[in-house]
Amino acid sequence: MTVTRYSEDQLAEFRRIHRSRRSRRFYSTAISMLVLLVLFTAISVSDDRPFGLDGFIVIPALVVVLMISLYFEYRNTRCPACGGGIGNMWSQRFCPTCGVRLVD
Ligand SMILES: [Zn+2]
Repeated sequence: MTVTRYSEDQLAEFRRIHRSRRSRRFYSTAISMLVLLVLFTAISVSDDRPFGLDGFIVIPALVVVLMISLYFEYRNTRCPACGGGIGNMWSQRFCPTCGVRLVD
């Protein structure tokens, strides 16, 4: 673990960024789940053209939503100080890479 000195203002800013990312992650996950639910429902409807959409449009849309979700997941689970991965952002209190405190 690397110990780097930051000012109190910087540390407070890191915690604020982490709080903001956690909040953003909550809403982005909820929105992604809603969009995926709608798209899966569109696929599972037995009609040839669910919701008037062609299956060749729905499946790539699913892939795009999944890719965007994974990208945001990757971006949101980084340490605001060092950029290292922090794993489970809900239970992690300190960055495993640099040791910066992430929650108050
Ligand atoms: Zn870090």
